[in-house]
Amino acid sequence: MMHTKRVVVSTQVTAEDATVRYAAALLRAGELVAFPTETVYGLGADGLSEAAARAVYTAKGRPSDNPLILHVDGREMLTGVAAQVSTLEERLIHDFWPGPLTLVFPKTAAVPESVTGGGDTVAVRSPRHPVALALIRAAGVPIAAPSANRSGRPSPTTAEMVCHDLTGRIALVLDAGPCTVGVESTVAACSDGRITIYRPGAVTAEMLSAYGPVTLDPALSGAGIPKAPGMKYRHYSPRVPVTIWQGDGAAVARSLKAHYRGDCGYFVSRETAALLPPEAHTFIWGARADCQAMAHGLYAALTVLEQLPITEIYAEGVAARELGAAIMNRLAKAAGYHIKEVK
Ligand code: AMP
Ligand code: MG
Repeated sequence: MMHTKRVVVSTQVTAEDATVRYAAALLRAGELVAFPTETVYGLGADGLSEAAARAVYTAKGRPSDNPLILHVDGREMLTGVAAQVSTLEERLIHDFWPGPLTLVFPKTAAVPESVTGGGDTVAVRSPRHPVALALIRAAGVPIAAPSANRSGRPSPTTAEMVCHDLTGRIALVLDAGPCTVGVESTVAACSDGRITIYRPGAVTAEMLSAYGPVTLDPALSGAGIPKAPGMKYRHYSPRVPVTIWQGDGAAVARSLKAHYRGDCGYFVSRETAALLPPEAHTFIWGARADCQAMAHGLYAALTVLEQLPITEIYAEGVAARELGAAIMNRLAKAAGYHIKEVK
């Protein structure tokens, strides 16, 4: 088993600092390095190396047809991997990079097949985290980085969560504390002045609609319910099953109180937690209306609750608009689309 080092770094680091240069050298040697971004921790590999990107799939146990996102330190580095950038994409890059917006471009010959899953497009973003940016700059190449979890598990928002899943499988974890956003980047593609969202994130459909007509990939709406239930759709899943209680907040809270179970873990708002017994296994995200706090706590809640002596997790749902759309997309997958509508 490989020895995995964990090194603490501060958000003040630069590309010249020794730890960052050490991490970059490991990446350039084909090793895997987990690092923080503003969304979740990423599992980094040299994004221009066929073999390094392939090693990511092995470490994660990820299906090889699920392509990786390349992380660049800015617009200039994009030029080497994107064959074409449209006017609309330039505007989005100008306004949202660095930040949680991934765009899909036609790829250049420099991008290995193991990054794109064999396809002719490449997904790219520039992360808004000083450690991630310093690491990319020091490496001098785009870094391929899916979430740093074993495939199917909740994404890691702390270095502890990375170590839980990947110790013994990767060379290094850069630990800069918890991620701020908490859910993965928005993935979108532009075509003929229109924007299609493949994965909702913190750059929301509402925000993007100022730049052109926005459509959601059909797989995100009702059609997202797996036609053939199975491993292909298992994602973000903790050890125990998850059920979402969806509806008006006060009604959901009353319903959770009426159906209280001591062997359940609860991912709920403060308002709902107030109705549950004090000994309930709760992970409170904050005020019900605070979607940023909910996104921030989501994956930590799933991984903290699953370690308790419980047999199921009940999660309070929120309206699927703005950041709530990203949260409910991840929660619904974690729950295997097991959603209880509360009237
Ligand atoms: P993760 O690595 O866990 O953040 O997931 C990466 C996401 O980006 C997945 O949903 C991929 O399907 C998506 N993605 C990566 N590359 C492409 C691409 N070329 N076209 C469309 N989606 C992509
Ligand atoms: Mg992932």
